Amino acid sequence: MKRSILQSASDFPIFNGNEPYIYLDNAATTQKPQLVLDSLIDYYSHCNANVYRAIHRWGEESTRRYEDARQTVASFIGAASRDEIIFTSGCTDSINLAATVFCRRFIKPGDEIILTEMEHHSNLVPWQIQGDIGGAVLKFIPVKEDGELDLEVLETLWTPRTKLLALTHMSNVLGTVNPAKKIIAMAHERGVKVLVDAAQSVPHMKVDVGELDCDFLAFSGHKMCGPTGTGVLYGKKELLEDLPPYRGGGEMIRSVYLDHSEWNSLPYKFEAGTPHIAGAIGLAAAIRYLESWGMEKIEEQEKVLTKRLIEGLDSLKEYTLFGRARERGGIAAFTRKGTHSHDLTQYLDSQGFALRAGHHCAHPLARKLNALSTTRASVYFYNTLEEIDSLLETLAIAGDFVL
Ligand code: PLP
Repeated sequence: MKRSILQSASDFPIFNGNEPYIYLDNAATTQKPQLVLDSLIDYYSHCNANVYRAIHRWGEESTRRYEDARQTVASFIGAASRDEIIFTSGCTDSINLAATVFCRRFIKPGDEIILTEMEHHSNLVPWQIQGDIGGAVLKFIPVKEDGELDLEVLETLWTPRTKLLALTHMSNVLGTVNPAKKIIAMAHERGVKVLVDAAQSVPHMKVDVGELDCDFLAFSGHKMCGPTGTGVLYGKKELLEDLPPYRGGGEMIRSVYLDHSEWNSLPYKFEAGTPHIAGAIGLAAAIRYLESWGMEKIEEQEKVLTKRLIEGLDSLKEYTLFGRARERGGIAAFTRKGTHSHDLTQYLDSQGFALRAGHHCAHPLARKLNALSTTRASVYFYNTLEEIDSLLETLAIAGDFVL
């Protein structure tokens, strides 16, 4: 019998304990279904061994599972080849990798990199650091009042010195889903490469790198039911081949001499040292789990939840919601008049709701919004309308308790 996505929470042991708790902090990290936990236990119980060059059966099995995981990721995001999938420790690690090797290879003093004002620090600070080393100038696409990017200003930012544009696919504060495909096409017309920070999109919607035509795409495993410490950097093969390695160590080399080394082929050139083998296997299990529901269905369910959440917040006059983009995902950052967001969020915890408060690692955006701290609710497909209603009811009477 086909199961309903409305009952998906029953797959997650953390929701089946004695303590009723409504988890709405999914943009920070998501919960793990039993079968992801099982995949980790199974790996460690049956074939734990280091990958590659093993002349024993556990090593061979471990390598097989790790490489199968790479293929699972490649198919999930529509990569042309598994060589384009680099396992990392998370989206932050992926962007640091891309920024370091891209700037080392292509950035000369005075070259320009375009970012947006809504970036998570993970897609800003690595470009500041590497741009500084290479002498790059950073430029920013402004965020408009409604939370959408000002593409008219973008038209004025391009110059012959523009080398790369990096943008978030979905804002982790405003929920805005940016028109990545359109922006990538604009960049490519000018010979500019594009990195997409997909930390908040890949877990929630069908993302196909072939269709987007992005040059790099970065995301984290733990935001999509996978283990912490896992992530992916996708890069177009010809671009990755043209880039220098990131970290030095075992497996990223073909031959090593005392005075120099030769690099391994893709994707190993970018995976120095023992990787997070179990993590990659767990991430593949998470992907299979998401695919068992279907990304279209997941997106659809989240749209229903988001609509109720946004309409509900709009009906509460003490609350201000940040972000009014036409295309948006399941993230709502808001403030309550006269109440600090930490107090409100702590109160919500006492009432059985996990939300997040603060600048959400997007300091420049928080400054621009004139809201240094907001409370953020973020949904995943396992949340229910009843949970959203319950949050809204609690928010409606929050003032009586907080002030
Ligand atoms: N980019 C965005 C848009 C995010 O929301 C996050 C995390 O919240 C990151 C990057 C960084 O992800 P991680 O901390 O998993 O590396």
